[in-house]
Amino acid sequence: MRVFNFSAGPAALPEEVLRQAADEMLDWRGSGMSVMEMSHRGKEFISIHEEALADLRDLLDVPASHRILFLQGGGLGENAIVPMNLLGTKETADFVLTGSWSQKTFKEAHKYCAPHLAASGQTADGFTRSPARAEWQLSDDPAYVHLCTNETIHGVETFDIPDLGDIPLVADVSSHILSRPLDVAKFGAIYGGAQKNIGMAGVTVVIVREDLLDRALPICPSAFEWKTVAENNSMYNTPPTYAIYIAGLVFKWLKKLGGLKAIEARNIEKSKLLYSAIDSSAFYVNKVERASRSRMNVPFFLADESRNEDFLAGAKARGLLQLKGHKSVGGMRASIYNAVPLEGVKALVEYMKEFEQRQA
Ligand code: PMP
Repeated sequence: MRVFNFSAGPAALPEEVLRQAADEMLDWRGSGMSVMEMSHRGKEFISIHEEALADLRDLLDVPASHRILFLQGGGLGENAIVPMNLLGTKETADFVLTGSWSQKTFKEAHKYCAPHLAASGQTADGFTRSPARAEWQLSDDPAYVHLCTNETIHGVETFDIPDLGDIPLVADVSSHILSRPLDVAKFGAIYGGAQKNIGMAGVTVVIVREDLLDRALPICPSAFEWKTVAENNSMYNTPPTYAIYIAGLVFKWLKKLGGLKAIEARNIEKSKLLYSAIDSSAFYVNKVERASRSRMNVPFFLADESRNEDFLAGAKARGLLQLKGHKSVGGMRASIYNAVPLEGVKALVEYMKEFEQRQA
């Protein structure tokens, strides 16, 4: 039996994708072998790789000025890889903090430069908002400005992406890439691990403006130097082939659904349903400012936290899994990525109402 999986990542994948991967597991389209067994330099895998690149470019409408790279190392790896690639001769980069992931990014940057804190969305209730551009206090000459456009733990999403002119804007888009259209042209670089909306863990997508490829520090490992990776079409070393294949199947699934505008409409419907269930009840609380509420990760608390374990046990009995909030904030969190169907959110909302009534 398949459950409704609300995990923050690795997360639910479209059932269609899993079925296709299962069908093709032993013999990929008459090749007589699994994708896992193919040489990354063979014509079969090259066709998988090229199609995934083209479909991602198409879905996100990536402009010709930007290169798409498939790397390894995950979102956290990029916290080191980004400064090593973009600092050039500059001594600082600026950071907007919206939650735990951007805090980690800021901390890691201290190994490579003297980072500057430009703005923070931390309030007495924790990270509850994405500071607007007018609040950002940029330093005089930053190599780039970093932002995490969806904070997975705190459920804070940035919808207004500013245009910073000559200063490259770099974003960690790990937990909401492909959930809605994004104006990639506004960014110097975006990056994200695949294990939420792209596919399975193992591949990290980086989309970088080509003219920024000459700024790497000499200490940057070659396998993580974006220029080297770009020059070798993400084949400088062995890429995570199976993860790229799964990502390619997810891209096709998204295209079949109608692309990012269509998935955005679904995501709006799903998130509205869940937030209105929370807001219409005194028993559930979400502390994030409305304009910054994530459509992908919805943290919430029970008014009576002594009921947490009961809530989770009852949810599990109904096949609603992985609802426990991140240990650093507690409470609950429902991650409702692209592959979580509306029916899953409806089932969750129904359960929440029922649980609340039982407490009365
Ligand atoms: N950034 C964000 C926004 C994330 O959600 C995560 C993982 N949950 C990371 C970075 C870290 O990614 P990884 O585990 O792939 O290094």
